[in-house]
Amino acid sequence: MLVEENFDVKKLTSFKIGGNVARVIFPESTDEFINVLKEYPDAFVCGNMTNTLVSGDGYDGTLILTTKMVNFEIEGTRVSAECGLKGPKLSQAVAAKGLSGLEFMVAFPGSIGGEVFMNAGAHGQSVKDTFVEGQFYDRAANSVITLTNAEMDFSYRTSVCQKRDLVVLKASFDLTNKSSEEITAKMQENLEFRHTHQPSLALPNCGSVFRNPEGNSAGRLLEQSGAKNIKHGGAHVWENHANFIINDGTATSTDILEIMLKMQDAVKKNFGVILNPEVRYLGNKNKREEEICKILYQNLIKTQK
Ligand SMILES: Cc1cc2nc3c(=O)[nH]c(=O)nc-3n(C[C@H](O)[C@H](O)[C@H](O)COP(=O)(O)OP(=O)(O)OC[C@H]3O[C@@H](n4cnc5c(N)ncnc54)[C@H](O)[C@@H]3O)c2cc1C
Repeated sequence: MLVEENFDVKKLTSFKIGGNVARVIFPESTDEFINVLKEYPDAFVCGNMTNTLVSGDGYDGTLILTTKMVNFEIEGTRVSAECGLKGPKLSQAVAAKGLSGLEFMVAFPGSIGGEVFMNAGAHGQSVKDTFVEGQFYDRAANSVITLTNAEMDFSYRTSVCQKRDLVVLKASFDLTNKSSEEITAKMQENLEFRHTHQPSLALPNCGSVFRNPEGNSAGRLLEQSGAKNIKHGGAHVWENHANFIINDGTATSTDILEIMLKMQDAVKKNFGVILNPEVRYLGNKNKREEEICKILYQNLIKTQK
């Protein structure tokens, strides 16, 4: 099993921002993963780091990256995948078998674990629609548990994993038979929508920065608050959609947080609405980052260790 010390994770994040992490562990099987979770009870777990802003000052602790656990099995209409598998890969594999329900996953680069944790969704589909059951490591109880869809407490961009200390090991989805042509056409439509409405990863970003407030769109509120003009240091709000921040290549984690604070402020001033971040933060905060995070993350339920 690969263990890296003082490892710069910058290149592994979709924001291309980060610093040295004291220890990064890459388990290659679920059993190895469980052993590592037992050995490092305070470790932070990440998948493909497409929703995580890593501090430029790095992280003193242990980070477990799931990206080497990528096995999956298809049996009838049921697909089970290890947590590190990338959504687009699973989406394409089930499409080839004429199974529908994961067409949304083709469009963004999260891992299955991150997607279950976040109840990721797009294009009218989300994890909760097809998730049947998952295997989790319950860190409070030090045991492996199975949870069904009804026990997942899924709602918009959240799951029970964010309320309890649950690590996703594997997840199963029950899909629907359809023609592969119909499924691939839907996937193509999703990809085309992305190309015209969202930045590609050639422009380092982490997807939507803020969650949509109930019954509203964060992007619309931000646009109407003039957020598209916001920039700071080496980063700016994307000119085509106000809920994305682009790293111009030299941005620091503080630049991103400064922009997020300006975005949150603009919407608060214009609409009296406090936007809550979707992007997660990991690492050693400098004094300014400490101040900003206290404001930005004031309403977030519980950040996983
Ligand atoms: C260009 C782009 C477009 C995007 N579009 C969308 C979209 O349309 N819809 C959407 O929902 N998201 C979107 N995202 C955001 C992101 O891809 C999703 O949130 C995805 O679910 C994150 O997966 P990840 O593996 O990258 O998570 P990470 O960034 O690695 O982690 C995110 C959170 O999940 C936790 N986590 C990761 N793995 C596990 C695990 N095995 N067990 C427990 N917790 C875990 C981490 O601790 C962290 O708190 C987009 C991102 C990008 C860059």
